[in-house]
Amino acid sequence: MATHRTKMLIIGSGPAGYSAAIYGARAMLEPIVVQGIQPGGQLTITTDVENYPGFADVIQGPWLMEQMQAQAEHVGTRMMWDTIVKVDLESGPPFRAIGDSGDEYIGDTLVIATGAQAKWLGVPGEQELGGKGVSACATCDGFFYRGKKVAVIGGGNTAVEEALYLTNHSDDVTLIHRRDELRSEKILQDRLFKNPKISTLWNKTVESFVAGEDGTLGHIVLRDTVSGEASMLEVDGAFVAIGHAPATELFKGKLPLDGGGYLLTEPGSPKTEIPGVFAAGDVTDHTYRQAVTAAGMGCMAALDAERFLASRED
Ligand code: NDP
Repeated sequence: MATHRTKMLIIGSGPAGYSAAIYGARAMLEPIVVQGIQPGGQLTITTDVENYPGFADVIQGPWLMEQMQAQAEHVGTRMMWDTIVKVDLESGPPFRAIGDSGDEYIGDTLVIATGAQAKWLGVPGEQELGGKGVSACATCDGFFYRGKKVAVIGGGNTAVEEALYLTNHSDDVTLIHRRDELRSEKILQDRLFKNPKISTLWNKTVESFVAGEDGTLGHIVLRDTVSGEASMLEVDGAFVAIGHAPATELFKGKLPLDGGGYLLTEPGSPKTEIPGVFAAGDVTDHTYRQAVTAAGMGCMAALDAERFLASRED
């Protein structure tokens, strides 16, 4: 068990965490990033990224995150492949965190950039058939459904992107949405409606996922929200893409959260209620949730951390 001490401890390794690290390192704060269970965050399970400024050609999410990590390391960030399981914010600064490895991390400032995780529907069969036909990540698992029938549940950008991605593997993709219009960006909707491999089921909620004879997903039971009628859709794979929940479990009872479980900060700032503790990216942002906004918030957190440390030296 080791103890790691830094002027800036960053929990989370998405665009917010890495951007905070780049700014923190350049301000000589010798940051430590504790990367968590999914180094690189949500972008590592996406494919094409065409809205991150600075790249005229389409880039890949995992590549972008590798670049951000390398950039943070080049300027002096220490990366720790560990997952924080406990934090002590009361007695700080300095703030203490314990990793899954048993190591202790001590930071004069703390940047929380733990991001968000995929949400599940919570209907019968979903958990039982996880990994046996039900998934929350088409780019991770789509390959297993080559030539098979698949469905995507949701109406946001993630659902539409996953449906489009799945057409690389399957000629029979059904998008199931609970309303009669999509929430996703128009450009993605256009691509979806033009794609002959995708059909859309409107006004349908999922009641359950049911196994076939071989124990893997056989069909989905649906309910029409207008007529109330039940129906059945036979599929081999179903991808739940209904949004994300912030990863704030560690901070419950320690920092104020809003009704959706997001960390509350001062309006327009990454400052939390505790001086020296900052939050950036999807863990605190339920409105924009973009890689570029998360990166911007990471930068703001690092600049505020630097100012906080300077004010304590005065
Ligand atoms: P969103 O919150 O945008 O969309 C969630 C979708 O799931 C909605 O259509 C919602 O329906 C539906 N939904 C939610 N709960 C249920 C439920 N219990 N049963 C059935 N359907 C449900 O989440 P996304 O993950 O799509 O996107 C999150 C953020 O990330 C957004 O800001 C998005 O713009 C961004 N993003 C951007 C991308 C890009 O720019 N390339 C790619 C992916 C995500 P309803 O519409 O009825 O509320």
